[in-house]
Amino acid sequence: MITTGQKIAIRRTENSRLPGTDLDNIKFGRVFSDHMVVMDHVDGSWGAPSIVPFEKLSMSPASLVLHYGQSIFEGLKAYRSDDGSVNVFRPQANIARMNRSAQRMCMPQVPEDLFLETLIELLKVDQAWIPGGDEAALYIRPFMYASDEFIGVRPSDTYKFMIFTCPVRGYYKEPVRVRVETDYSRAFPGGTGATKCAGNYSAALYPAKLAQEQGFHQLIWTDAMTHRYIEESGTMNVFFVVDGKLLTPETSGTILEGVTRDSLIQLAERAGRPIDVRQVSVEEIRKSLEEGRLTEAFGAGTAATIAHISAISIGGEEFSLPPIEQRIVALALEKELDDIRRGRADDPYGWLVQVPA
Ligand SMILES: *Cc1c(COP(=O)(O)O)cnc(C)c1O
Repeated sequence: MITTGQKIAIRRTENSRLPGTDLDNIKFGRVFSDHMVVMDHVDGSWGAPSIVPFEKLSMSPASLVLHYGQSIFEGLKAYRSDDGSVNVFRPQANIARMNRSAQRMCMPQVPEDLFLETLIELLKVDQAWIPGGDEAALYIRPFMYASDEFIGVRPSDTYKFMIFTCPVRGYYKEPVRVRVETDYSRAFPGGTGATKCAGNYSAALYPAKLAQEQGFHQLIWTDAMTHRYIEESGTMNVFFVVDGKLLTPETSGTILEGVTRDSLIQLAERAGRPIDVRQVSVEEIRKSLEEGRLTEAFGAGTAATIAHISAISIGGEEFSLPPIEQRIVALALEKELDDIRRGRADDPYGWLVQVPA
């Protein structure tokens, strides 16, 4: 196991909430495990990380993050295998992405080894919180925010880095109805679309709410310049199957580089499944739907893995897709990915990092 020489101080809770928690009935994102990682960046360097009971923060009303949103986050999961062992899925990819987000938002880099070491330590401390069984996992939420007490607009001098975790069951159960958005934008060239910065998500709430009022679950975002090319589906990357071939937009700064997306692309390529990673136009999707050649569509992300799309609305015209049972490609990919994460299949990519018991 990697050691950075940093000492991780651990203060354990004296009142575990686990006995009062029904791990079989949990709402996504509302139940938090007993402990969290905290590490402060002061005077240009990180202090020692510590693991402490999950507790409320106290902060100044003048904290920079509250006013200008200098804040980033990540989302990844740990999975329990049938034999009880626990693995984190591709944490290095999330750590690298968080550091890319940090750079774009003028925030300090977190040393990769230290990040991984504190994460593994946290999972060891809270391993009893990691539920077993299909669909279940421990969702891990690392984040960092600007903590200066100052209301001038400039990068903060101090930051807080934290990680907490949530036991989760399934996420979206229902297939989603989506509408292709051509008025509002999530991201634009030169913007922050490729980063998981807090502001991206608050800015997307209003367009999503309008779509929900029209009876859709989610939007499909298009490029901000022409609204002619598909980017993402809500907070997930999007895939289609047209004429039996997988299709997903290429990333070029406005699309979040999803770890799930990358994993599915690698799985498809390795298995010799036909796949195109390129610009995908709205018109191409509309025509494929009209001609019945588009048979599957789904969002891909850590929280839900795959969210099947049951209907797509384009310019007021709604197209229904075939039933979920017929989604051969999506269901096969999801199973292949899940088998690796739960230790049921080989891990030829070295995607799993085991948590020592
Ligand atoms: C996090 C996220 C994704 C999915 O990324 P994963 O690493 O697969 O979880 C896709 N799009 C957006 C906008 C996201 O924030």
